Amino acid sequence: MRVLITGAAGFLGSNLCDLLLAEGHEVIGMDNFITGKKENLAHLMGNERFSFFRHDVSKYIFVAGKLDAVMHFASPASPNPNSPFGYTNLPIQTMKAGALGTHNTLGVALANKARYLLASTSEVYGDPLEHPQTESYWGHVNPIGERSVYDEAKRFAEALTMAYHRFHDVNTGIVRIFNTYGPRMHVDDGRVVPNFIKQALKKEALTIYGDGEQTRSFCYVDDLINGIYKLLISDEHMPVNIGNPVETSINEFADVINALTNNPEGTVYEKEQRGEGDPQRRRPDITRAKDILNWSPNVSLDDGIMNTINYFKSELGIQ
Ligand code: NAD
Ligand code: UDP
Repeated sequence: MRVLITGAAGFLGSNLCDLLLAEGHEVIGMDNFITGKKENLAHLMGNERFSFFRHDVSKYIFVAGKLDAVMHFASPASPNPNSPFGYTNLPIQTMKAGALGTHNTLGVALANKARYLLASTSEVYGDPLEHPQTESYWGHVNPIGERSVYDEAKRFAEALTMAYHRFHDVNTGIVRIFNTYGPRMHVDDGRVVPNFIKQALKKEALTIYGDGEQTRSFCYVDDLINGIYKLLISDEHMPVNIGNPVETSINEFADVINALTNNPEGTVYEKEQRGEGDPQRRRPDITRAKDILNWSPNVSLDDGIMNTINYFKSELGIQ
């Protein structure tokens, strides 16, 4: 296949490029580096099956030659307003990547009769009233809340994707990604995994927002990318949750990080940092991924976090 991947210089996009190239496909990466970085793709320069275009997906997209698949992963993704990459600090860019970027990439898929895959998110469920979250749950989202620039852009993106499927018969798919971590997350991304690992490696107390009783379910990047690839090569049109169903409170997660890094500094509570709409509980129901794709995650939290710690050590120049 000849595949266009938007957001290719980001955490997930660059890992996707690697998997598709390893599977023998040709990859065209596209990114404007708003939260990604060229170092994530440096190892691919010179690969004759890889090419890259610096381009903002909210502007008209032209790719010469026939494409077999389009994967739309370009969007800021961190909710943390303390990070320069946080989507609340990039509100218009986030809405444009989700709305105009989805429109443009769907247009490319339509013109090429290509398979289309949208990177959606567990955030479409908002601060969920149902637990765990199944794909049939419609969500609990504040349309004007702090997180709305991201959540509503992704909900619009899902609606537009289904419209192109129903009206134009584009072969679309939607992956609802739950908290994923691993190598190539930016150290300054602001999400809980990079924040905690960076703090632990610097022998600082981990900053827990709120009371730490809120939960997340953390998926290692290799598991996620395998599931996404299975969805890409399927012809499933309805949304599929991909994530790890092992649920952990942020307090428990902090203990894991401190134990694996031998960090004696413990934790510090920053209650006021917990933003409005920060979901209280999040865990994917992955029955559909198991049934349709025969997919489930394999990597344990300890193994995945150790790999990520080693990556962050090298990024931060720590032995
Ligand atoms: P990331 O910030 O590392 O990667 C996003 C990439 O998109 C960056 O390289 C950025 O420069 C690029 N980008 C943003 N706007 C762009 C634009 N207008 N034009 C071109 N490129 C643009 O984040 P990530 O974690 O790799 O997220 C990738 C995708 O997966 C996003 O769509 C995100 O919403 C989705 N997602 C990720 C997670 C997760 O846990 N990592 C969870 C749910 C959904
Ligand atoms: N969080 C935290 N300390 C941090 C960063 C995040 O306690 O330094 C919390 C955050 O409030 C949320 C959870 O960790 O409840 C997961 O946050 P993340 O930014 O990874 O993304 P989210 O899952 O909220 O989209």
